[in-house]
Amino acid sequence: MAEADRILIAGGGIAGLCLAAALDRHGFTAEFVERSVIPARPAGVTHLMLLTGDGCFFGLVPVGGGGTYGFAGLDGERFADPLEGRLERFRRRFGGFGGPVPAYLAALEHDAQLHFGAIEWMELDRWHQGRAVLAGDAAHATPPHMGEGGALAMEDAVVLAELLRSASTVEDAVEAYEARRRPRAEWVQQQSRIAAQAWVRPAAERDAILREAAMEYLEELRLMVQQHPEQWHTFGEFLVHAVPLLKKP
Ligand SMILES: Cc1cc2nc3c(=O)[nH]c(=O)nc-3n(C[C@H](O)[C@H](O)[C@H](O)COP(=O)(O)OP(=O)(O)OC[C@H]3O[C@@H](n4cnc5c(N)ncnc54)[C@H](O)[C@@H]3O)c2cc1C
Repeated sequence: MAEADRILIAGGGIAGLCLAAALDRHGFTAEFVERSVIPARPAGVTHLMLLTGDGCFFGLVPVGGGGTYGFAGLDGERFADPLEGRLERFRRRFGGFGGPVPAYLAALEHDAQLHFGAIEWMELDRWHQGRAVLAGDAAHATPPHMGEGGALAMEDAVVLAELLRSASTVEDAVEAYEARRRPRAEWVQQQSRIAAQAWVRPAAERDAILREAAMEYLEELRLMVQQHPEQWHTFGEFLVHAVPLLKKP
């Protein structure tokens, strides 16, 4: 590629620069998430935990330095959650959860520890135009339920850099970039949207489906372990298997 070739690579996340704003499908999953970190580890939090309630969920993740990351979401129409009084409202909303949640809520100290936001996603018909190209959330923001958005953004950067080195023109590179990245980004978006719906299903419906999914999964796991004892299923594989079942009416 000639030294004089110029390219505009735009990031900026979902709220940032959107080259193709007029073409986009920008969605809202009708879910809100409050995120926070406490400098403590409630008893029982040894790995990622997800507790589901009626139209809501509470997740806990051990993080470095003995801290814990908490993410709690609920279903509903758009609403604002001003900073003042946020902690009190948060404790009221999620006070019905058991397990390590009460200890987590008690360890929070002030409103500003809670980051509040709507769960949004965006699908664009194309990620590039001429020599301008989008990467990361600006191209394919997804609900965070698969925990993959950050990985997608980094993968985009690696692939784009590789193609810009090997392609003969910028136009060829951005064309090849979108062709290579789109299937993966769309798969993550689709799975994440299904998970976003599943996590806030009414409790009775969700529990019945989970029981059915768990039975099927356990049977598959039993056969797999019998046939290939050296293999092990990861949480991600479980999600991929269980999520389509959760989608069933
Ligand atoms: C609740 C929640 C939980 C998540 N959990 C996970 C997880 O566990 N794992 C995971 O991999 N991903 C997770 N994600 C997704 C992840 O945060 C994003 O996919 C990732 O940050 C996207 O990176 P990005 O660089 O494209 O955009 P961003 O991280 O949004 O960065 C864009 C930057 O551009 C700046 N900007 C905006 N407009 C302009 C402008 N006009 N000029 C200059 N700068 C501008 C912004 O201020 C921002 O700093 C989560 C997201 C949410 C909302």
